[in-house]
Amino acid sequence: MSEKQKTQAGKNLTKVVGDAYMDLHTKAAQGAFVVWIAINVPAELFAGFENVVYAVPESHAALNAAKGAGVIQCEKAERLGYSPDLCSYARIDIGSAASGGKDSPTFGLPKPDLLVSDTNNCSLLVKWFDAHHRRMEVPHFIIDVPFCYGPQRAEDRRYIVSQFTDLIRVIENMSGQKHDMDKSRAAIERTSQGLAFWKEFLGFARHRPSGITAFDSFVQMAPFLVARGTPQFVDHYRLLAEETAQRVTDGVFPVPDEKFRLFWDNIAPWHQLRDMSAGLAALGANIVGATYTSCIGGLEGSFELFPYDGGDPLEYCARTQNCYVCPHGMALRGKAMAGAVRDFAIDGIVFASNRSCKPYSLIQMDQQRRMAEVLGVPSVMIDVDHADARKYSREATFTRLGAFLERLAARQTVSGDFKGNTKNERKVS
Ligand code: SF4
Repeated sequence: MSEKQKTQAGKNLTKVVGDAYMDLHTKAAQGAFVVWIAINVPAELFAGFENVVYAVPESHAALNAAKGAGVIQCEKAERLGYSPDLCSYARIDIGSAASGGKDSPTFGLPKPDLLVSDTNNCSLLVKWFDAHHRRMEVPHFIIDVPFCYGPQRAEDRRYIVSQFTDLIRVIENMSGQKHDMDKSRAAIERTSQGLAFWKEFLGFARHRPSGITAFDSFVQMAPFLVARGTPQFVDHYRLLAEETAQRVTDGVFPVPDEKFRLFWDNIAPWHQLRDMSAGLAALGANIVGATYTSCIGGLEGSFELFPYDGGDPLEYCARTQNCYVCPHGMALRGKAMAGAVRDFAIDGIVFASNRSCKPYSLIQMDQQRRMAEVLGVPSVMIDVDHADARKYSREATFTRLGAFLERLAARQTVSGDFKGNTKNERKVS
């Protein structure tokens, strides 16, 4: 899409992300303490320091994939001996770091002083950061977050809070800077405000036709990863929500002749966003929502916003550590997905079996069955890799999607007044 065709929020997104990477490189060059973090690590903790900046390798890898550099970076890591079966985010990041940021749209990431991974989503991430630890001889702090198969337990929350306290102490000792909890508190308040606008934006999927596509939401996630807790973060998501509201009022919809409302399960296919979105739109289908973007700002098993109430900042950060889908068991995943399927009147679910992300993909077949049995909602499984385009076949994917849409069309014809998924529902526990 040309700059001229972009929405204001699209243009602002480019600016927020560009500014964030520029700021990161500039401050690092001027001597800031640099931390590389896993996506779940609460970035607001670093706002409590005078001069600590952070980078998110997963987000940088996604950007590489979206800009067409994913395969180049993966191949560099593979030449170093890393298996092509490893997560493509890890391979992209290792490939980029090993080549000094060559081919990266952001010129890579500045060398870290500290690596902070966690065990929330997968054990691979810890090994990946350990590879950096060995190669760059940089300390590696691991936050151990228990997997959750039900509501987070108080003892788990205390355990996570104690590790956040340790992390703050480690950074104080290493950087010589003092942490100010009130600054972190203010950053969390801003994040919570921004996420309220984010949820408002996602809510325009309820409209018929939907005011958004999940592809918009994939792209618009970026400020959550690079600018959390900043005034720019709040301003951006306010703009996004307000502009989307205006477009819906004006009758501007991404798929105006929407026949099929779909829901996506798994990480965004970063290298296929435009093609998949346009290909589905041409078939009258819109993926209106996704587990990947809906879970941001919520708690385990729910896509509702969990707002910050001004209480203990570390307690809040610990409470929201389990929002991402990967570590959830069947019951939590099923509960959240069923809520979204009802809320957005979804006709069918696209389960994207992801070659890279085993934790996200492993229980999808069971979830498919569950959604069919409990909600009567049909689904299709397609094969993708979120960042390695070599493991994706457009032909095979669209053959399956096309056949699936034919099934949905036949269902709609038989039902006559079929409006989605509410028939034959059973309670999801
Ligand atoms: S395997 Fe999945 S959860 Fe783990 S780092 Fe890769 S994308 Fe993230």
